Amino acid sequence: MANPMINKDRLRNKFEELVKIDSVSKHELKIALNLAKTLEKMGGKVFFDNSKKETKSDCGNLIAKFRGNVDVEPIFLSGHMDTVSPGNNVNPIFENGIFRSDGTTILGADDKSALAIILEVLKVIFENKLRHPPIEIIFTTCEEIGLLGAKNLDFTLINSKLGYILDSTDTEGIATNAPAANKISIKVFGKAAHAGGAPENGINALSIASKAISRLKIGRIDHESTCNLGTIKGGIATNIVPDLIEIEGEVRSHDETKLENITNKIKESFLKSREEFCNEVNIPKIEFIVENDFPKTDIPKDSHVVKLAQKASENLGRKLETKIIGGGADANIFFSKGIMPGVLGTGMKEVHTVNEWIRLDDMLKTAELVLEIIKIHCSGK
Ligand code: ZN
Ligand code: CA
Repeated sequence: MANPMINKDRLRNKFEELVKIDSVSKHELKIALNLAKTLEKMGGKVFFDNSKKETKSDCGNLIAKFRGNVDVEPIFLSGHMDTVSPGNNVNPIFENGIFRSDGTTILGADDKSALAIILEVLKVIFENKLRHPPIEIIFTTCEEIGLLGAKNLDFTLINSKLGYILDSTDTEGIATNAPAANKISIKVFGKAAHAGGAPENGINALSIASKAISRLKIGRIDHESTCNLGTIKGGIATNIVPDLIEIEGEVRSHDETKLENITNKIKESFLKSREEFCNEVNIPKIEFIVENDFPKTDIPKDSHVVKLAQKASENLGRKLETKIIGGGADANIFFSKGIMPGVLGTGMKEVHTVNEWIRLDDMLKTAELVLEIIKIHCSGK
């Protein structure tokens, strides 16, 4: 029997429909209801978790369960429902096989290409009555604002031990490694004084901070670690010695020991500056807060989730290479919960900009790949 075909027009229309629904982070309810309706019509049991209490979104993560007709392990398919800004009133333009926005907003292929692809795969499965495992659909909220949806996802509702998250660019890659990250916020407290009248009575918090920063290596630290200080604020007027400077930054590394060491080095540099400027007890002061932003993803290259996708790709006459990525995504959270998430690309390009674009044929390719994965998974191989 010939392979059932992905319906390209239907995929195109669904993608267009979804990008036209505003869903900037924390405002996913509208698109979630649209998706829920479609999933229910296909026979899915749809519900939301309680994460909105924590995320402050207008809805929870959407979960849909489909019973299998083959006795094999369940598999999950996932993408995120939210977009970055400017993401309202998207007016998609389709030309020469490529979707773009009209240049005033993002397109939202990140990550609505995933949503459209997953729905299309399900449609093909059910309309052709294909053999399929129990399938769990997980559409998260607030991915773009610190993976908040995934971080607060109720994982007791999920039975799958492996699955695929569609949320990257490369249609011939599967991301298996992503770094862990720390978020850092630093407050440097000095002492205010009139800059003209009595500067010697002050302790300049900006001087302390800049001295600390000048000692630090920032940017790419080594082949698997990066570090950035991204925002700085403080000071009130040119004639006042600033008594408070606030700095925010991040450290990422694929090696968790390095993550800790680099974070500590930053802290030590600020503490050293404190000593150098210290002329009174307890002044200046450094407040250094580290928040573990997300844990790393480290999926073995020979794990089932990778092998399965590579076999599927091979069946389609394509390659699928394992990739190391520098960003954190929902996958980091899934992995930390003991679930194996293979991250697949949908072809989305220049995401988070108004130039974002995606080729319909790339979405089609990913849909074919996911369908083939499901097929092989059913054969228990
Ligand atoms: Zn994304
Ligand atoms: Ca994104």
